[in-house]
Amino acid sequence: MNFRNFLAHAHYLNNPYLSGIATLCLFFMGLFIYLNGKRAASNRIFSLMMWCLAIWFFSNTMSMLTYKNLNTAFLWFQIGYTAVPFISVAGYHYYHAQYGKRKRIILLLYIAALVEALLVWSFLPSQLKIYALPNVGVVFQNVPGTLIFWLLVFGMAKWIALYIITTISFFREYKQETQPLKRQQLKLTAIVFLMFTVGALEWLAVFGIPLHIGWVAVIGVFTPMTYAITRYRLMDINLIISHGLAGVMFLVIFGMLHLGLFNLFNRIVNPNAALLFSLAILAWIFFFSPLWPIIRRWTQKIVLKGKYDYQEILREATNAVVTILDLEELIFYLIDMIRNSLNVTTLAVLLKNESKDGYVLRWADGIKPDLLGNYVIRNGIVDWIERKKTVFIKEEQSLALSRKEFATLSKDIEGINAEIIVPLFYKGYLEGLLALDNKATREPYMPSDITLLDGLASQAIIAIKNAQLYEEAITDSLTGLFHHKYFMLRAQEEMDRARRYRHSLGLIMIDLDKFKSINDSFGHQTGDAILVKIAQILKKNVRKSDIVCRYGGEEFCLILPELELRKKNDNAKITDRVPDEALAMAERLRKTIEKEVFQAIDGEKIKITISLGIAYMPDDNNKFMISDLIERADKALYLAKQNGRNRIEVWGKRLPGG
Ligand code: GH3
Ligand code: MG
Ligand code: MG
Repeated sequence: MNFRNFLAHAHYLNNPYLSGIATLCLFFMGLFIYLNGKRAASNRIFSLMMWCLAIWFFSNTMSMLTYKNLNTAFLWFQIGYTAVPFISVAGYHYYHAQYGKRKRIILLLYIAALVEALLVWSFLPSQLKIYALPNVGVVFQNVPGTLIFWLLVFGMAKWIALYIITTISFFREYKQETQPLKRQQLKLTAIVFLMFTVGALEWLAVFGIPLHIGWVAVIGVFTPMTYAITRYRLMDINLIISHGLAGVMFLVIFGMLHLGLFNLFNRIVNPNAALLFSLAILAWIFFFSPLWPIIRRWTQKIVLKGKYDYQEILREATNAVVTILDLEELIFYLIDMIRNSLNVTTLAVLLKNESKDGYVLRWADGIKPDLLGNYVIRNGIVDWIERKKTVFIKEEQSLALSRKEFATLSKDIEGINAEIIVPLFYKGYLEGLLALDNKATREPYMPSDITLLDGLASQAIIAIKNAQLYEEAITDSLTGLFHHKYFMLRAQEEMDRARRYRHSLGLIMIDLDKFKSINDSFGHQTGDAILVKIAQILKKNVRKSDIVCRYGGEEFCLILPELELRKKNDNAKITDRVPDEALAMAERLRKTIEKEVFQAIDGEKIKITISLGIAYMPDDNNKFMISDLIERADKALYLAKQNGRNRIEVWGKRLPGG
C-alpha cells in the first residue's frame, strides 16, 4: 500500500470539516485562556500548547485535502507531528506538577512512547512515518502479522494502558481528597484522562474496527481542561512549561545524537544492530548520567530566568536563618526574599499577641505603618487555618466556601490586603501568620509558589522562635527587664567598648524606699504590681541605647553607654566628671516616680519614692573593673539612703545643693 492510498482511506475516515471545527475550537480555547484577565501571563504558554494541537488538527485536515499531491500532503503530516512530543511530555508532568507524586508506571509508559517514536523515526523514510497519525491506523488492517502491525498493536496497548492507569489514579486521588477545591480539580483531571482513553480507542482501527471518535475525544479533553484551569487553577503552568520545554530539548538532543550514532554504526554493522547499539548508548547517557537534570535546570533558567529555582531559594533562607542572629534583620531578609522571588509588594508577618487571643501585625512591607503593633487578626480566619492546617487562598476559598462564611473570613484580613495567609506552625501550634497580597503581575499563586511559601514560613518561624526564646532567657519574668546575669554580661561588654572607643560609661543603681512596709501593709501582690509599673516607667524614661535591668528584688540598675561623646581631637580625657546626661536622667526618674500614684489591689492609692546612686568609669581606667563600677554605684546609693532617701548621690562627689 502506498502513501496516496493511505491518504484516501484517511479522507474517508477523518472528515476534514470536522477536523476544521476541532481546529477552530482549539484555537479559540487557547485564545480564551491567553486573554483571560489576570492569568494571561502564566497561561500564555498553555495557550501555545492548545495552538500546537490546533496546528496538529489543521495539518491533519490539510493533508487530507491535499492528498492528491503526495509531497504537500506529507509535508503537512510532518508539520502536524512536531506538536505531539511537546503535548505528551507535558502529560506526565501534568500529574507530577499538580500532586508532587511521581508514578513510576506512568513514567515508564511515557518512556515506552519515546522509544516507540524513535523506532518509528529510525525507519524513515519508509512507510512507517504514516504511523505518526494514530487515528488513521485503519489503513494497516491489511497487514496483520507484519512488523508494522505489531508495532501498531504495541503502540495502541501502551497508550490505552497509560490513559487508563492515569485515569484510575486521578479518580483514586479524587475519592481520598477532602478539600472541595482539590476535589474539583481532581474530578476534572480524571475526566480529561478518561476522554484520552476514549480517544485512544480509535486505535482499534488496527483490527478493522474504525471508531470515528478521535476529534470528539480531543474536544472532550480540552473543554474540561480549559474550565479547570480558568476556574479551579488546575496546574502550575510555569512548571509544566519548563518541564515541557526541557522535554522538547531532550528529544531534539536525543534525536540528533541518535541520528549521528545510527549512521556511524550503520557503516559497521547491519541497521538493526546499529539501531540497538545507538539506543543502548543513548539510554545509558540519558538515564544513568546527570544529563536530564542539567537540561531541566538549563531550560528553567531560560524560561523562568532563575526565579523558580525554589530549592536554591530555600537553601539560601536556611543559611540566613543560621547565620543572621538579629531577628529584625533576619525577618527583613526573608521578607525581601519572598518579595523578590514571588514578585509581591505587600506582605506582613503577624505573631501571637500577649493575651494569646489573636495575631498582631509585627512586621510589614507595603502596609500603613500605623497598623504595626495594632492590627490584630482573631477568630474566623484563625479558626479556619487551625482547623485546616493549610494555606488560606482567598480566591480559592471564594469558590469553595459558602458566601456567608467567606465574607466573615475575608473581612478579617481586609485591612492588610491579604490574598494569601500562610500559617506559621511551630511544634504543632499556630504561632503566627504570613500574609501576602496578590503578585504585582496579577498572576495567580501556583502550587509551587505555595510550596515555597510553606518552606520559607517554617524557616521564618524557627528563627522567630529562637529569638523569642533567647529574649525569654535573658529577661526577668515579672518585669520584662533584663535580669542580673544578663546585666553582668552586658556591663562587661559596654565597659570594653567604652574603653576601646574612649567613650564615657555610667551606671545608675536604684532602690525603692521603704518597700518592705508597702509589702507589709498591702501584700506582696500589690508590691509586685508596683515593681512592674516602675519597670515600665524606667524603660519609658531612658534612651534607646540604655540597658535597664532588674538587679535584685526591688533594686534596678541602668547601664548608660556613650553618655557624652568625646569631641574629635580631644585626646586628653574621657569625661572624668558626672555626666550631665546621667544626672538629668536620674532626676527625671526620681521626679516621675515621686509624682506617680500607684494603686493597691483593693484600690487604695500608694505613693512611692526611689533613691539613686550614680557611678561612672574614670579616666584612669586601666585597672578599673566592672565590680568597681557596681561597688561605687552601690556606695552612692547607700549614701542616698543615709541622707534621707528620695534623692540622688554620685560616687565621689557631692551634688550641688545636695
Ligand atoms: P529601704 O530600701 O528604703 O532601706 O527600705 P526597704 O524596705 O525597701 O528595704 P530593702 O531595700 O532592704 O527591702 C527589700 C524588700 O523589698 C524586701 C521585700 O519585702 C521587698 N521585695 C524584694 N523583692 C520583692 C519582690 O519581688 N516582690 C515584692 N512584692 N517585694 C519584694
Ligand atoms: Mg533593696
Ligand atoms: Mg529598698
